Amino acid sequence: MIYLDNHATTPIDEIVLDSMAVALSVGGVAFGNPSSTHRVGVLARRALEGARERIGALLPGRDRRVVFTSGATEANALAVMGRAPKGRRKNVVISSMEHPSVLNCARELSKRGSTLTLIDPNTEGLVDAERVVDAVTDETALVSIMLVNNEVGTVQPVAAIARRVRSLWPSCHIHIDAVQAIGLVSLDGLESASSCSISGHKIHGPKGIGALIFNERFTPRALWRGGGQEGGVRSGTQNVAGALGLAKAVELALQEWQTRARHIAELRDRLVARITALVPSATLVGHATYRSPSNAMISVAGLSGDALVGALDLMGVVVSTGSACHAGDPRPSEVLNAMRHDPTAGTVRFGLSRLTTEDDIERTVGIFADAVKTLQKGM
Ligand code: PMP
Repeated sequence: MIYLDNHATTPIDEIVLDSMAVALSVGGVAFGNPSSTHRVGVLARRALEGARERIGALLPGRDRRVVFTSGATEANALAVMGRAPKGRRKNVVISSMEHPSVLNCARELSKRGSTLTLIDPNTEGLVDAERVVDAVTDETALVSIMLVNNEVGTVQPVAAIARRVRSLWPSCHIHIDAVQAIGLVSLDGLESASSCSISGHKIHGPKGIGALIFNERFTPRALWRGGGQEGGVRSGTQNVAGALGLAKAVELALQEWQTRARHIAELRDRLVARITALVPSATLVGHATYRSPSNAMISVAGLSGDALVGALDLMGVVVSTGSACHAGDPRPSEVLNAMRHDPTAGTVRFGLSRLTTEDDIERTVGIFADAVKTLQKGM
């Protein structure tokens, strides 16, 4: 099998898995309940706080706090719902290509009386920083823009947006969904952001763990009540092994990430060049340069994306049409709609990772061309 669906999830790194297994065993540091005051609890608490510190260093800026969550869906919900507009400041500004965990929370807020400003990307999936900044007013409580889009891979100008919005509106909450960015693109220049969300399973870490990193001044309100763990922001016994796995995955992602990202981008560029040369009806969707090194979304005129993904699966190449969160939904992707993509041209999203090899790419090109030919013959 050639696995090229790394936007949906990534295989867990052996080092991460080993560290978690040791921590979870009886007597390991993740065995205890970190709220217990006896020695077993204290051991777990120390491990948890160590993981928190290592993850907090991810987002540049001062007074950063980290709250562990069940994943980025919850971290995004905490950032959006937990900073729900109050009183006169009732406006929320987001791009229309945000992940559903941001988009649908913002829509929920608008049902509860907030005003929602959606900024459309251009046809290449790029959000214009000026349009976002211009949309923010003294009524705006929250701006949320993703750093890397999970479907078409666009790298959005979030550092510029955060800097400009912060200088004009110092008390506006600026949230960055950084889930698809860690270990692939730079996080420099995000000092002005109020918060960012990350997820373990997107960076060769475990599923079921994520984090919201935020500035003390922009502490979100808890989404539910309970024992008051995580500084009262997120009640529930913490997933210590998950937190340790997430911290390890973050560290591994950040080791030599530039060299790795360059290598992944080279493989991706070769994939795109070979496929578009071999299959005349195939074109690259999204931005040519402001793009995550791991992403190649290809559309094929006149073919169904689902049929293509199914055929590739049978031939040993695992990809998807777009977001896994959207899979099975017959409606066209909201991201592609916002980019005004031709709905009759089906899409295939290739997601590479640091484990992808040259051989994977060479074989995928041939298999893709065969799959297209077979499907076109059957039409
Ligand atoms: N944001 C983005 C950009 C994503 O790609 C995803 C996962 N598809 C999420 C948020 C949600 O992450 P999780 O699976 O950890 O809930």
